[in-house]
Amino acid sequence: MKVRHDDQLRRVRGRLIARGGELNERIHRVHADLARQREPLPRDSADAAVAMENDEVLRAIEATATSEMHHIDHALERIDAGGFGVCEQCGGDIELSRLDVVPYATRCGRCERQG
Ligand SMILES: [Zn+2]
Repeated sequence: MKVRHDDQLRRVRGRLIARGGELNERIHRVHADLARQREPLPRDSADAAVAMENDEVLRAIEATATSEMHHIDHALERIDAGGFGVCEQCGGDIELSRLDVVPYATRCGRCERQG
């Protein structure tokens, strides 16, 4: 099945764009929180520790969201280029069930399992 149905592509595209919007919002929120935390650390060392821990959590959230954004951008490019749903490693079809779970998958299940 080399040619995907248009309506299916549209659906996946819509999901990717919606997810991208969510992630964008999350990244903005994290940036806002980080900016707020650039204020001097609390004098109380326990409070300072909590603030620093928070900072780490926020950065982890940002890193995860940013990396997922890259995947989504890449998937949208592939959709526009007509290569969506094709395994980048073996050139075979990526399973539909897999694309339903991970719309930005770039490799088929078999290649993914082989690493
Ligand atoms: Zn493959």
